[in-house]
Amino acid sequence: MFDIERQLRRWEKRGFLRILRTLEQAAKPVTIIEGKEMLLFSSNNYLGYTTDERLQREAIKAIEKYGTGSGGSRLTTGNFSLHEALEKEIAQFKGKEAALVFSSGYLANIGVISSLMKRGDIILSDEWNHASIVDGCALSKAETIVYKHVNMDDLERKLQQAMVKKSRNGRIFIVTDGVFSMDGDMAPLVDIVHLSKKYDAFVMVDDAHGTGVIGETGAGTAEYFGVTEEIDLHVGTLSKAIGGEGGYVAASNTLIRYFHHQARSFIFQTSLSPAMVATALTAIQLLPKETRKRNHLMDLTYRLREGLTKANFIISPVDDPTPITSVILGDAKKAVLFSKKLADFGMYAPAIRPPTVPLGKSRIRITLMATHTEAQVDQLIHAFRTIGQEMEEVFS
Ligand code: PMP
Repeated sequence: MFDIERQLRRWEKRGFLRILRTLEQAAKPVTIIEGKEMLLFSSNNYLGYTTDERLQREAIKAIEKYGTGSGGSRLTTGNFSLHEALEKEIAQFKGKEAALVFSSGYLANIGVISSLMKRGDIILSDEWNHASIVDGCALSKAETIVYKHVNMDDLERKLQQAMVKKSRNGRIFIVTDGVFSMDGDMAPLVDIVHLSKKYDAFVMVDDAHGTGVIGETGAGTAEYFGVTEEIDLHVGTLSKAIGGEGGYVAASNTLIRYFHHQARSFIFQTSLSPAMVATALTAIQLLPKETRKRNHLMDLTYRLREGLTKANFIISPVDDPTPITSVILGDAKKAVLFSKKLADFGMYAPAIRPPTVPLGKSRIRITLMATHTEAQVDQLIHAFRTIGQEMEEVFS
């Protein structure tokens, strides 16, 4: 009999036990975590939109007009004019003909991959793709071939294998995160698009972390690389820079019509609540004008990376213009201790451990927000420097 208690104790011993932290206020730079005022350095609320009055006002109006819940799935009684307006806005923002909204980014990946990618097809998936892509691939009847992280030589080799392995009418899909959630680096979309053309493959990009933050208008990694049109399926979330909740896919009219009929996580789920739809709709209308916020966020991020590098920490990424910075510490227990010491400094940034990251790659994952200040980032660098020196003594 599988001994769950023993398993939990084993995880605890190895520093793998997961702990839920309780926030008592919104995800702002200064917030209350378990009764203590702390600086928050781990939220995906990249532009500070969750507390933006413009979004809150529209969410409240939507509740007053449409109610708190939608009361039905989209294909029954849960299709409000608001949902359609949001999908139009997303399609336009992502440069595609149409879009479809799901209740989360997780469900968007599951629904899109499992319904579109069939037996006889081959999926080429980056080894560090998000869990929701991995789970979508597991649900799909297509064969999944994992290629080495952002390694275009390996991708090409595996595309050649896929050409041989796929069934006669089978299709090839390259699926990648736009920004990788744990290492904060960007997928080389120009090269991926080039290979997709050479091997007649479709490309799907999950830009959960890039949307709102990267690109001239905030449309994301594909906009940054100038390959918006060449990407067949843009997937993402409404829960990070957009400040609400939900997920989406933007693609051709034909594909979106297909998902209406086939994507089970769309068909069998109650539609997104009016407040969340109004929040996202307002956010997406505002995003193209948020250049100052995006620039500030990147300035802060580069300031942080420079400070950490000077203090001899190994960080990822070094250059990519994304809001994520991971400090690689190696051992899981070391990462947990580091995070605890940060908490003593009144700062919250979690230790990320296996299985979320590979063994020996445990880290502190920092995400900044446009609402942070330079002084707060400097405080964080100072804490890292001090704790790093202390721990060197403990671990050396
Ligand atoms: N894709 C990526 C790359 C993500 O980081 C996340 C969220 N952590 C998701 C998808 C899932 O999005 P959601 O939280 O909206 O389910």
